[in-house]
Amino acid sequence: MDQLTTELSARIEGEVLMPGSDAYEEARKVWNAMIDRKPLLIAQCRNSQDVAQTLALANGNDHPVSIRGGAHNVAGHAVCDDGVMIDLSQMRNVSVDAEARTARVAGGSTWGDVDAASQAHGLATPGGLISDTGVAGLSLSGGIGWLRSRFGLCIDNILSVEIVTADGQIRRASETENADLFWAVRGGGGNFGVITEFEFQLHPMGPEVMFCAPIYALECGPEPIRFWRDFLKDKNDRIGSLVEFSTVAEDDEFPRESWGKQVYTIAAVYAGDAEEGEQIMQPLRELAPMVTDFSGRMEYCEVQKLFDLLMPAGEFRCYWKSHYLQDLSDAIIDEILEGIKTVPSANTLASIWNFGGATASVPADATAFGDRSMPYMFSLDSVWEGTDDDETNIGWTRDFWGRMQRHSYNGRMYLNFPGQGEEGDKLLQDTYGADNFQRLREIKAKYDPDNRFRFNQNIRPLNH
Ligand SMILES: Cc1cc2nc3c(=O)[nH]c(=O)nc-3n(C[C@H](O)[C@H](O)[C@H](O)COP(=O)(O)OP(=O)(O)OC[C@H]3O[C@@H](n4cnc5c(N)ncnc54)[C@H](O)[C@@H]3O)c2cc1C
Repeated sequence: MDQLTTELSARIEGEVLMPGSDAYEEARKVWNAMIDRKPLLIAQCRNSQDVAQTLALANGNDHPVSIRGGAHNVAGHAVCDDGVMIDLSQMRNVSVDAEARTARVAGGSTWGDVDAASQAHGLATPGGLISDTGVAGLSLSGGIGWLRSRFGLCIDNILSVEIVTADGQIRRASETENADLFWAVRGGGGNFGVITEFEFQLHPMGPEVMFCAPIYALECGPEPIRFWRDFLKDKNDRIGSLVEFSTVAEDDEFPRESWGKQVYTIAAVYAGDAEEGEQIMQPLRELAPMVTDFSGRMEYCEVQKLFDLLMPAGEFRCYWKSHYLQDLSDAIIDEILEGIKTVPSANTLASIWNFGGATASVPADATAFGDRSMPYMFSLDSVWEGTDDDETNIGWTRDFWGRMQRHSYNGRMYLNFPGQGEEGDKLLQDTYGADNFQRLREIKAKYDPDNRFRFNQNIRPLNH
């Protein structure tokens, strides 16, 4: 054991894992099987004091730090080479105050943890589409889920955080306490410190909600998607939806004749009364002959797990990239349909997401996230199996993404789906907007002047 490990082991309640042990090998694995990084050590923190001690020691030894929440970041930011990895996977408590409709959520919790605890009281807060994604990583760059139409992004529901900053100080941040930090973490990713606890606003939801999921063959062409676009125009405040392109797996849930065929699902959740949702969304299920239809009224927690099997952790190699779109004209729909036909991997998904409603109602300067007026997002979630196929799949994704760039909404991209962030500072400046980006760099200089937290979509401190 080296001196750093010995010292840290004596200071924290959690385990300190070293290269060479099975536990270390397990803990450095992340969701994307392409990522193979080796931290100097992994601190499996149990509480905020553990995090503070780890940061103090990393500081003293001039080591950068990566933070692991749910380990789903596709670029693999949770794990670093030659730095200290703070692993929050042991910090997964959620406690709900049903009367106040709030939840306190520990920094390593997953959305499955939050949904189960909140739904026990008939409550929910907007989360992601997969239950084992981390609350922290997903929320800190915005957080886009089914309930965004009515309740906004995840960040719009954060009331306060407990955060350990680079100097090892445990602070609270809210509208009234360290307000600059509170503004920055709502969109600024893991740049400003380790969040050890979130306080979320909850809303009455379910337990039964209406989930809509008719599946149409790609051969049905653009008409159903055009209908979806027009149909949602006056319903973006109640329906969170995406058109998801995929290839049918050899799975008995699908008719055998559809196996291997390209399809798209018009998936949607009505954020309100389930019966009303069923009636309102019925037209989306009558647009062409369906391959199958997974629609139905079901428990909110079930909806939140429906896509889990499509996205198993640690099995596949992945590269995901996105554009916010300025428009979804007929020509853009045609271009997406043409582009998707050439997909090299049957595991790859691509999606068109709607915005508007509560998401769009928040001003650009209210949170670091920036402008909310993008009407749609197009995401390419490339997923494949073998190392030999890396070049083909990444190349295909980048080509398609490059062709779609001219439809981009001011060059902005969702920072949770940024590929490897190849566009650097330009991407951040375009996405946050010049004013927000400048403010973020100033706040970074105040709380993390040495850029200790740099394994992320990195906002460099001003003058760095
Ligand atoms: C299968 C899958 C489904 C997804 N679905 C959605 C979706 O529906 N909606 C959506 O918006 N996004 C979605 N995403 C993208 C997801 O939001 C990002 O990948 C996000 O980074 C994952 O967060 P995490 O905590 O699991 O990741 P991690 O890899 O653990 O963390 C990612 C980064 O977040 C920061 N971070 C993590 N924890 C903390 C903390 N406690 N304090 C400070 N910083 C922290 C760090 O910078 C870290 O490097 C999905 C991703 C996957 C792989």
